[in-house]
Amino acid sequence: MEKRITKKELSAIVNDAYEHCRKIKEGNNASYIPYLAKENSDLFAISLCFVDGDTINVGDYNYIFGMESISKVATALLILKEYGCETILNMIGADATGLPFNSIMAILLENNHPSTPLVNAGAIAAVSMVSPVGNKEQKWKAIYENINALCGGHTELIDELYHSEALSNFNNRSIAWLLKNYNRVYDDPELSLDLYTKQCSLGVTNEQLSTFAATIANGGVNPRNGTRIFESRLSAKIISMMASVGFYEHSGNWLFSSGIPAKSGVSGGVMGVLPGLFGISAFAPPIDNAGNSVRAQAAIKYIMEKSGLNIFDGCSVRIDD
Ligand code: GLN
Repeated sequence: MEKRITKKELSAIVNDAYEHCRKIKEGNNASYIPYLAKENSDLFAISLCFVDGDTINVGDYNYIFGMESISKVATALLILKEYGCETILNMIGADATGLPFNSIMAILLENNHPSTPLVNAGAIAAVSMVSPVGNKEQKWKAIYENINALCGGHTELIDELYHSEALSNFNNRSIAWLLKNYNRVYDDPELSLDLYTKQCSLGVTNEQLSTFAATIANGGVNPRNGTRIFESRLSAKIISMMASVGFYEHSGNWLFSSGIPAKSGVSGGVMGVLPGLFGISAFAPPIDNAGNSVRAQAAIKYIMEKSGLNIFDGCSVRIDD
């Protein structure tokens, strides 16, 4: 079956979603990172970037916020590129944990691999694998340039967020050293923890996140500037990781109710991918008990439902101008 929808119809749905969801007041800003706790809870944006580079933006889409866990997707791509899928499967894994993003229990249960690069343990292991091992400056350069390329523009470290997080990340420090205990961190644990914290504190706009998502939807070519960032076969690999664990212990519920693989971050961002069609992102700081933005989830679910699009329905989709 073929479904057809126009960009104009999608644009109307995105604007409706914004009006409908801006009234939602549930959720609270992340409280365990002081910088995030004091962010304006009313901020709200939705962005969609088609694989031909056209965009739809509404709300605070130029506001700069910390990438947090969405950065895990970028660094997973970087090491998939460098090491290949088999090695990543062996050294980190691609399993859903079914547990919170910062779970120590998950490491104890699966101590032969840190589950997936999209939870904290696997993300710290992923950062540790970035070349050149032992060289903090060069590793950061590789991580930072990869994120800029995926987002199609300049991103900037939010110093206050970085320091706020570095002073309060005792749980993540425990994770880094527990990984060391199991030989599952592949560079110095403190260096890896610091670079992980730094990538989480990179400031992006919601519009940039939609470009990042659209680059994945577009088989590795950034649709805003035509630059190839990664091999097309890696799109399916990273989308499968997002689908299985993108919302941590709520990943199944998300996929069941939204029909789009996506990844969240505790600062309030959500980035979703419909392969071959578009990338979508939404941002609003208040999060639920699993660390996923309440308003951003509602907005993307609304758009998926009203547009009738769903990655699992087997329909081919044509988006007309
Ligand atoms: N920097 C955050 C942390 O490590 C990221 C978590 C998230 O966005 N879910 O706790």
